[in-house]
Amino acid sequence: MSTNGDPLGSRAVLNRLQRITEENLLDIERLKAGGRAAIGFYCLYSPTELAVAADAIPLPLCGTRNDPIATAEEMLPRNLCPLIKSSFGFAVTDTCPFFRFSDIIVGDTTCDGKKKMFELLNRYKTTHVLQLPQSQDATVALSQWRHELSRFKAIIEAQTGVTITEERLRAAIDLMNRERRSRKAIMDLNQARPAPLSGSLLIEILFKVGFLADKEKGIALMDAVVADAVDGCLRAPGERHANRKRILITGVPIGLGSDKIVKIVEQCGADVVAFENCAGYKQAFVVDAEKDPMDALAEQYLATPCSVMSPNPGRFALLEQMIADFAVDGVIDLTWQACHTYNIEAYSIDAFVQERFGMPSLHLETDYAESDTEQLRVRVEAYLEML
Ligand code: SF4
Ligand code: SF4
Repeated sequence: MSTNGDPLGSRAVLNRLQRITEENLLDIERLKAGGRAAIGFYCLYSPTELAVAADAIPLPLCGTRNDPIATAEEMLPRNLCPLIKSSFGFAVTDTCPFFRFSDIIVGDTTCDGKKKMFELLNRYKTTHVLQLPQSQDATVALSQWRHELSRFKAIIEAQTGVTITEERLRAAIDLMNRERRSRKAIMDLNQARPAPLSGSLLIEILFKVGFLADKEKGIALMDAVVADAVDGCLRAPGERHANRKRILITGVPIGLGSDKIVKIVEQCGADVVAFENCAGYKQAFVVDAEKDPMDALAEQYLATPCSVMSPNPGRFALLEQMIADFAVDGVIDLTWQACHTYNIEAYSIDAFVQERFGMPSLHLETDYAESDTEQLRVRVEAYLEML
């Protein structure tokens, strides 16, 4: 229930989300004026718990909009992933408030484009790049990553002047686990048929909640939506059909501004019920609260099933579980142009989905521009007809 006892409904959810999003900028300004640091994060591999444990504000920074790309292309090659160009463009045009708020930036050596972009980004703001292993091997890679996280902890302590004690770290793990449980709960609503949440509304909530300095506000909003998601009350009456095709989106990260595929699928009369990407289920894990906290963070974050890992068995396991849990009819595998790791992995994903579930997947390669929207629509329509 909402705070006044009425069901939220999708319009009310968006209004409340808008309100707390606007408050958030004031919250961050106020907290920073009071001496709190802000740490900008570019990737899911860096544990935000270390920032939270030092009383700093973790801010996700990946660029999801097309506007700053033209400026980025004055320094970066055009033939580069739009996510990298957008991220860099926001920094050089100084048009992202969260980049501006960030005292330092943290990136990881994920793909080639991103790690080389970070070298240039360091000209604009101090950028620490964590040396992420390229495999998830439990012996060599895990000890290397554990060592990197100790270095990261020291960086945050030096920046904030706060010593990250075990007690502080356990409290941060507890808070972030609660946020991720709420994220998972809201995503899992769409295991129901018909799906109570549209993919567009779900991605908007997940995206905006990530920027909130006050994590409790985001948790409360997501929990209220979960409490109210009865009998399709979050969908317009015309959208509540149990026979709409149920689509899972996998692949590259998406967010507001880079969600055209979600809109196209919905305009074609299907539901996006699940996201197996960094905006979605890749954030649906919890860190083991029983273990040594630094070991637990290293283990859990290294296990993130992204295509930059070679091999990347976790993505196939996660997909297998999600396709069954969400009873999906089809899988759309999205690749940003010039993203080699997701592009190459698409072949194995399609073979896996076909062999395991007897359904074809649809691999789409695009960027943030709208110029190919009609071509994408034709391909999505043809795919939905096949299902
Ligand atoms: S897709 Fe991979 S490299 Fe990109 S943000 Fe997600 S985990 Fe990081
Ligand atoms: S989408 Fe691919 S190329 Fe772009 S930042 Fe992520 S891993 Fe790198």
